[in-house]
Amino acid sequence: MTSLKGQTAVVTGSTSGIGLGLAEALAAAGAKVMLNGFGDPSEIEKTRAGLAEKHGVDVAFSGADMSKPADIRAMIADTDEALGPVDILVNNAGIQHVAPVEDFADEKWDAIIAINMSSNFHAIKAVLPGMKRRNHGRIVNVSSAHGLVASPFKTAYVAAKHGVVGLTKAVALEVAETGITCNAICPGFVKTPLVEGQIDAQAAVHGAMDRDQVVRDVILASQPSKRFVEIADVAAMCVFLCSSTALGITGTALSVDGGWTAR
Ligand code: NAD
Repeated sequence: MTSLKGQTAVVTGSTSGIGLGLAEALAAAGAKVMLNGFGDPSEIEKTRAGLAEKHGVDVAFSGADMSKPADIRAMIADTDEALGPVDILVNNAGIQHVAPVEDFADEKWDAIIAINMSSNFHAIKAVLPGMKRRNHGRIVNVSSAHGLVASPFKTAYVAAKHGVVGLTKAVALEVAETGITCNAICPGFVKTPLVEGQIDAQAAVHGAMDRDQVVRDVILASQPSKRFVEIADVAAMCVFLCSSTALGITGTALSVDGGWTAR
């Protein structure tokens, strides 16, 4: 099993869903973890303490808002102080909004671009100087199948996730001669609170369909496996990318999507 013992990882958006799964897998591999995200403070504290106890690693929490560059810089500085310099950065925080382009609220567009894409840039900018000094680092950006192909009604999300793939490639090239890698993971549909919200939103857009029909014919219409991707599958890919053996993998967009982008 991959050992990340002694390394420090930041996982944005890790109070829920995929991010929490990634944080837990990194902690299970021995990494110290900075959690981040929104939620009920007592639930977050329970999660933090539970992960630390279960895996015997230090776990801290930052409530930094990924739409705010100053918050992102503070989160990286806080990590450095609480857990040591950042070896692993996982840019995972993300939100969704589904609407036809002409009805898409400007504020929703701005928020999705900021949280799903620009936050990756600000966090990478904050960790790279330290990673370069130590000649070691792993950056994993959680993009999406929607970073490679599009669906209607998701203009901001598709634009942001394509942007993340482009950012990943450019950063990887800049640091290619160092011990730092930068990759994107592109999951298909994973059943998390974010997707639960979309089932309701799509049911509203598609009027006559019930939730089961929406899941099979709308949400998983483009996923040939007709199964949701498991959080554990995305987590395993992330831990592998963070391992020392994955040094040769950089600038890629790795699909974990049940065959979606094979079409
Ligand atoms: P989720 O809603 O379960 O979790 C999102 C996390 O981001 C939460 O911890 C939330 O608190 C945090 N967050 C939201 N806004 C934030 C902000 N402004 N600042 C800090 N944290 C914030 O969603 P998820 O499905 O686990 O998605 C995680 C990532 O995976 C997202 O980038 C999403 O686009 C991507 N993704 C999800 C799927 C899927 O099917 N669920 C598929 C492909 C990609």
